[in-house]
Amino acid sequence: MQTDPRFNVESFNLDHTLVAAPYVRTADVKEVGGERIVKFDLRFTQPNERFIPTDALHSLEHLLAENIRNHTDRVLDLSPMGCRTGFYLIMRGDASPVEAARLIHLALGDVLEATEVPGCSPVHCGNYRDHDLDGAKLWARRFLSVKEEDLAKVFRDEYEEEELDRIPGWTGFSR
Ligand SMILES: [Zn+2]
Repeated sequence: MQTDPRFNVESFNLDHTLVAAPYVRTADVKEVGGERIVKFDLRFTQPNERFIPTDALHSLEHLLAENIRNHTDRVLDLSPMGCRTGFYLIMRGDASPVEAARLIHLALGDVLEATEVPGCSPVHCGNYRDHDLDGAKLWARRFLSVKEEDLAKVFRDEYEEEELDRIPGWTGFSR
């Protein structure tokens, strides 16, 4: 499935042509000071098919980073991927992709309820004009349309062909 590691960066060794987004994947696990640290790849859009516009991604980042911490005290970081197809979530403890998917579902539910983007001011943000709350809600709804249990499926060969048609990232994409 995956090629032999050749890069220092874990995601460079992931074959992005084989995945079926949206998904939640364990990207890395490390022991730091006797505690386990887990990094998740929260992929919102199908790599090299679609990407989230910068303003919507930025608002999603603010909303998710703020709201996910209302549901757990184990989040160390949540940050967007430079390719704009998703986010990385770093948690302490023995977190599983199912648990991460649960937390993301909760935080995305909060996004749909939001009336403003937290930290959207020149005091709290480095580019406060570059936000789109409606866009953030659109991408949140898209991710939420995938069942939590399906988010743990990362590769397209984990799905039946007819199931792929129901995944937002694969609509209109032939195998
Ligand atoms: Zn910001």
